[in-house]
Amino acid sequence: MDNAKIKQMDKENIMHTYGRYDVCLTKGKGVYAYDEEGKEYIDVSSGIGVNSLGYCDPGWTKAVSNQLNSIQHISNYYYSPVASMLAEKLTKATGMSKVFFGNSGAEANECAIKVARKYSFDKYGKGRDRIVTLENSFHGRTIATLSATGQEVFHNYFFPFTEGFDYAAANDIEGLKSKITEKTCGVMLEVVQGEGGVNILDTDYLKQVEKICKEKDILLIIDEVQTGAGRTGKLYGYMHSGISPHIITSAKGLGGGLPIGVCMVCDSLKDVMGPSTHGTTFGSNPVVCAGANYIMDTINDEKFLDEVNKKGEYIKENVLKIKGVKSVRQMGLMIGIEVEGVAGDIAKKCTENGLLIITAKTLLRMLPPLNITYEEVDKALSILKKVMEELV
Ligand SMILES: *Cc1c(COP(=O)(O)O)cnc(C)c1O
Repeated sequence: MDNAKIKQMDKENIMHTYGRYDVCLTKGKGVYAYDEEGKEYIDVSSGIGVNSLGYCDPGWTKAVSNQLNSIQHISNYYYSPVASMLAEKLTKATGMSKVFFGNSGAEANECAIKVARKYSFDKYGKGRDRIVTLENSFHGRTIATLSATGQEVFHNYFFPFTEGFDYAAANDIEGLKSKITEKTCGVMLEVVQGEGGVNILDTDYLKQVEKICKEKDILLIIDEVQTGAGRTGKLYGYMHSGISPHIITSAKGLGGGLPIGVCMVCDSLKDVMGPSTHGTTFGSNPVVCAGANYIMDTINDEKFLDEVNKKGEYIKENVLKIKGVKSVRQMGLMIGIEVEGVAGDIAKKCTENGLLIITAKTLLRMLPPLNITYEEVDKALSILKKVMEELV
């Protein structure tokens, strides 16, 4: 099937909920992806931070295909060794007590919202159910997680939205305090707001949020859907600041390319969700968990994460030398580039020139595979440089 035919079938049969770049991808290896006609792209977007080890990493592919040839799915009525192993890896690495497996970031956050509300209901009864989130946050596309998302543009069309969310400005502790009432049961935030424009929260702010939450028995939920699984140069982004959240959600990069969402809870919450309070058919799917086990084994390693930090700094340093770049916001390999000119136009032009780069609000955004090499970084940046010199 040629590119034109693929695009035509897409346009005729898939709901137009995404603005697509003019690219059809059919093969990938490492940081490179290819279309059916053999055009090569260097990809620093990783399927929005999902392909942690790039396309078809041999170890990951082997782990997944071995599992696929053993048993592909069992329901949650039965025990699974691969899911149990993954759960143990996650609890050991984070100090959390228990996990719930779902299939996406939004679902992981839905679970977190349910845990926070039920913890409060069990202890304080009805009415203490509100959750404070931050302006410019992004927590997902379900009705509840859209409500949780602190951006007006997401609060349209689909009324009525789930009630119970209050929004505070990021990095503003007084602002947060003013939103907390006796009805607040949780605070949910991303340590780096990804979709919101790669906004990094201050360590001092995070520590103060933690303190307020502890004082008032409010649960601190960290949405690590994008920042998790090594993306920021620590296993989880909150680990940079030394805070201890009550709930962590993880998705995107944890599966290495297969759909997973995890909600992890601390010891005091381990029994909040009892039998029949939550569930999902595909959660803890063995093939998905086999891939995630491989990702955890690879990335939960100090040397590996050190490299993520070094490469991130290397990218920042070199991107700053490019004409038309105003500033760079970077934590590990989560990188936002403030540019002169329209980020969307630059991303489009880069794509035409064989570089897959995405945007976040008015910024260019890079989420390269965590195992990208320096040579590959240089190659990607040379394309960006060429495009920026032409466009701005
Ligand atoms: C992508 C994202 C989500 C939503 O994840 P899905 O898998 O698309 O449901 C939630 N929170 C954050 C921080 C994200 O980046």
